[in-house]
Amino acid sequence: MENQISPTLVQALKKQKYHMVGKHSAVKKCKWLHESLVHDRPCYKQKFYGIRSHQCIQMSPSLFSCSQQCLFCWRAQSGDLQVTWDEMKRLEWDPAEEIMRGCLKAQDAILSGYNGNSKVNWGKLAEARIPKHVAISLTGEPTLYGPLGELIRVFHNKRLTTFLVSNGTMPSKLSELDEEPTQLYVSVCAPNEKEYKRVCRPHFPEAWNKLNETLSIFPSFRCPTVIRMTLVRKHNMKSVKDYAQLIEKASPTYIEAKAYMHIGFSTLRLGYDSMPDHKEVYAFAERLAELTGYRIIDESFESRVVLLSRRKKPLRFDNGSTMK
Ligand code: SF4
Ligand code: SF4
Repeated sequence: MENQISPTLVQALKKQKYHMVGKHSAVKKCKWLHESLVHDRPCYKQKFYGIRSHQCIQMSPSLFSCSQQCLFCWRAQSGDLQVTWDEMKRLEWDPAEEIMRGCLKAQDAILSGYNGNSKVNWGKLAEARIPKHVAISLTGEPTLYGPLGELIRVFHNKRLTTFLVSNGTMPSKLSELDEEPTQLYVSVCAPNEKEYKRVCRPHFPEAWNKLNETLSIFPSFRCPTVIRMTLVRKHNMKSVKDYAQLIEKASPTYIEAKAYMHIGFSTLRLGYDSMPDHKEVYAFAERLAELTGYRIIDESFESRVVLLSRRKKPLRFDNGSTMK
């Protein structure tokens, strides 16, 4: 697809350390993989769910495709960098097996960058060479990749757990997955249709209805489900009652309320002061808890995220690592 996508964009992504995999996928080193290897500071998903940051691959099968153009998104969107393309265009898909192999190779290349690093934890680096988890969440909407269920299956066959993050605008793609992810996330980043159109800027008019359809089928998934909210100060932190109604419909296993981070291409659309601090996120979560009956069960101050659930503790996917 490089012949369909502007070389300027591909170059910009490579400069931002995206490792291209085939025609439409990519792996990028997560900040927390580095923090875990060098400073023994894992991500909040390790704290909450036992996903080891140093054994996690952050990837996307939909590098150039999404059904929304969220204000807060860190990805390069059509129109950024004076480059435009059709983000909903149906692409020729690479086979799932090839993507899986390409991702493992890209992760290996990322890790080889630590070989001469005297600050790295060598025990962890050795473990990192055997990844245990895939975050299908880097950028873009993964349900726009047709054989997504197969991709999940080939990762699972390699004994990798998967967390899939979707914007929920393709309910039929999610309900037809021939393999469920280990944990399914759907982003709900606006309380009602009016705000949704302004903040998430969908590419098609019925997207809000589609998102609501996804929330209605959420209880039918066997895997744990998460409603993920990216909170942007002065943009989507009001109308908590409306959010509570959406939560009621979806009845997720968890809610993650998380602050927007001023990084990547989002800096072209939002100012630094759009990031709420942890106190604001916590206050939002408290109000949501009052309205939904969910309880706050954990939080991460540095990632400005609060976890709510009806469970007392989250289910963990600890994967055999002996290290924190
Ligand atoms: S789970 Fe997410 S935040 Fe944690 S290391 Fe993987 S990609 Fe990074
Ligand atoms: S749905 Fe996700 S990838 Fe798409 S624009 Fe929004 S934040 Fe970015």
